[in-house]
Amino acid sequence: MTNYRGNFLYGFIACGPYEVLPEWVFDKVFCPPVETDPITGEAKVAQVGLRRVESALLQGYKRDEILTVNPDYIEKSIGSDTKIVGINVMDPLGMAPVTTTMSPEKLSYVAMKFKKMCASIIQLKKKYDFKVVVGGNGAWELAKTDRMRIHGIDTVVVGEADELALDLFRDLEKGDAPELLHCFVRNIQNIPEITAPTVNSLIEAMRGCGRGCDFCDVNKRSKKDLPLERLQREAKINLDYGFDSVWLHSDEMLLYGCDNRDFYPNYDAITSLWKGLKGIGANFVGTTHM
Ligand code: SF4
Repeated sequence: MTNYRGNFLYGFIACGPYEVLPEWVFDKVFCPPVETDPITGEAKVAQVGLRRVESALLQGYKRDEILTVNPDYIEKSIGSDTKIVGINVMDPLGMAPVTTTMSPEKLSYVAMKFKKMCASIIQLKKKYDFKVVVGGNGAWELAKTDRMRIHGIDTVVVGEADELALDLFRDLEKGDAPELLHCFVRNIQNIPEITAPTVNSLIEAMRGCGRGCDFCDVNKRSKKDLPLERLQREAKINLDYGFDSVWLHSDEMLLYGCDNRDFYPNYDAITSLWKGLKGIGANFVGTTHM
């Protein structure tokens, strides 16, 4: 789990073929680990999607029953009381556009790391007999029975897991979960607020886009704009951790608060969002997609 040295663009380098550089160069120079508790393996910052699932689980589990960990430390984090291991993936098999462009026909650094992690998890699973569930933006790459079996995965979740995560984990504990789930959030109120810091202070301002390009996977989810007040609360968690900036994730930031069918940007909604986040102490407010 890395913060890409505070620069999201280093994430592109991680899509390159692992064989071109010694692994330690990737590990130390471009993809250094997030702050981690060396005893428990707990990650002090984590991907925002992982934080969402963590918050969803806290609606039914106690705080000490859930641990968000850095995969480099799973030998320390997994033990005899582990019931479920959840993995958040972005591009586990190197099938996404950047990786297939940068590493055609080659194993990318990210895919190599995923294979190594799964090999460790398979060994631990033999010892401790827990269930493995995978979600995240790249989960679709693993949604085939043979790929799941090779990587020691019991269940793959494709889509937005916010509403379903708690019930799914209960079912996994009972050994009663399906192999594959496709899910969507129906109500914005059911997206739980994060309770702990996120990698590089990235929070979700929007989901979906609404423009409707017919080739685009983003259209599978309805457009949702998260209100300023809750974004301020989530940003404050990151600012309190020590970040001085806020990054807003979206599928199309200029459509935040868009209130017309012609897709003209809503000037007031966007400027209020930026001013509202600067107003709680962020020196810089950036966005990932525009
Ligand atoms: S995210 Fe981009 S490609 Fe997808 S529907 Fe919106 S504008 Fe179109």
